[in-house]
Amino acid sequence: MDTTSRVLKLPEAPREFALWIDGRPVAAEDREIYTRHSPAHDVPVTRIPMGTAEDLDTAVAAARRAFDDRRWSGLSGADRAAVLLRAADGIRARAEELAYWETLENGKPIAQARAEVGGCPGMYEYAAGVARSLHGDSFNNLGDGMMGLVTREPIGVVGIITPWNFPFLILNERVPYILAAGCTMVAKPSEFTSATSLILGEVLAEAGVPEGVFNVVPGLGPVVGQAMAEHTDIDMLSFTGSTRTGRGLLSAAGSNFKKLGLELGGKNPQIVFADADLEDAADGVAFGIGFNAGQCCVSGSRLIVERSVAAEFADMVAAKLARVRVGDPLDETTQVGAVTTEAQNDTILRYIAQGRDEGAELVAGGAPVDLGRGQFIAPTIFAGVTREMAIAREEIFGPVLTVMPFDSLDEAIAIANDTDYGLAASVWTKNLDTALTVTRRVQAGRFWVNTTLAGGPELPIGGFKQSGWGREAGVYGVEEYTQVKSVHIELDKRDPWIS
Ligand code: NDP
Repeated sequence: MDTTSRVLKLPEAPREFALWIDGRPVAAEDREIYTRHSPAHDVPVTRIPMGTAEDLDTAVAAARRAFDDRRWSGLSGADRAAVLLRAADGIRARAEELAYWETLENGKPIAQARAEVGGCPGMYEYAAGVARSLHGDSFNNLGDGMMGLVTREPIGVVGIITPWNFPFLILNERVPYILAAGCTMVAKPSEFTSATSLILGEVLAEAGVPEGVFNVVPGLGPVVGQAMAEHTDIDMLSFTGSTRTGRGLLSAAGSNFKKLGLELGGKNPQIVFADADLEDAADGVAFGIGFNAGQCCVSGSRLIVERSVAAEFADMVAAKLARVRVGDPLDETTQVGAVTTEAQNDTILRYIAQGRDEGAELVAGGAPVDLGRGQFIAPTIFAGVTREMAIAREEIFGPVLTVMPFDSLDEAIAIANDTDYGLAASVWTKNLDTALTVTRRVQAGRFWVNTTLAGGPELPIGGFKQSGWGREAGVYGVEEYTQVKSVHIELDKRDPWIS
């Protein structure tokens, strides 16, 4: 067997799923079933019960009980860490299964899905360490009669709304940190990609996460998601998705002033200086826009390149992208798979048409790739793009790169910051002063120097400007799910108020 081009088989029948509430599966019964078709193969792959607002109430009540009786938050950090470490092993044990269903529902290449699932155990292991080291502060400088403590407490019941682009990864950039903080939670995945979130319920239960601590209610955004935002028994909502939906949640979350964590859209600059290693940068820029078919909140969709090398560099990126293997995501050699939803496919093609209409020059791609089934789009590059064009300003969420030249460092920074978003940015240069100046002056929550899309459990993620609020991952990601309490302790006798 040629192991370099192994193609996995499609499932013989769609896999049936149940909701996951209070530590056990809840069968679909008479709930509406959403049959998910693989966006790459047009065949049914999963059958997901659509939860209702009542299901959400049941799940939130379970999470509330589990929080209030302290079955999780009352454990020591060491005991929580032991469970998190077992969860890491549990994900490793089921990694191939998780990657397979992720690929079938999402359309991403199996090699990429494996890498994403493979990155998740480390998040649990890191969070286990934070569970043990999380601490507050003490004030020993308040005079002999008074001492001050600041303690960190879990915020309570957390709602998590996740999108379809990285269903398992995005969930796991939150769950272990929320667990480390001592919170309980209810997750609502995108209706298109619920399978791996539901499998995670089983993994966490087997690892020893107590009943009610982790719940999953699959369902529609305007039904379950909206009810989650309005729910008065949810203390914090972590939302990842479009800026438009995120904005809509602001007023809903006002029901009980729940804390909001928002990771929203991006229009992220890739700033390339003439002194960069152009070969390396071209590969990085191609990766930054082609990865996950460009359906990535941190994809590097705006190439801002020094004019002296702009034409040459755009050609280098085009040559790289021409060699990218767009194809069946179940083929282990595929690099770019299907576009995940029909709506997203239409959106990307509409933006490509708009780019042409607005007068941008098509350098590469610009059309669907016909593989006989599924929806695929060739990585696309537009040159001659001005700052006003929609393709330069709006998040396309597809493999569409715009090229804008610059003549000076200040101009590069000005173009990079000329956006409502501030999620991520990359700079490519061999000059340390240039790299650090750009890093300091471009507004973005994540930055890459001479690389792109690097990540891991240690460093926080999140956006500036309209890319969102708050941070996930790292120590910051655990602290985000805590609140601080200040305690004044009288060590002597109070000065009486009434003598
Ligand atoms: P949405 O923001 O609509 O979806 C993200 C999540 O929010 C999904 O779970 C969705 O559920 C849920 N949701 C939808 N409506 C509501 C609501 N009223 N209240 C609460 N939750 C809700 O993104 P789309 O899937 O519609 O994609 C549209 C665009 O958003 C893309 O083209 C892209 O530009 C951007 N996007 C950005 C992402 C990011 O990571 N920053 C991720 C995904 C999209 P359901 O899927 O069931 O509707």
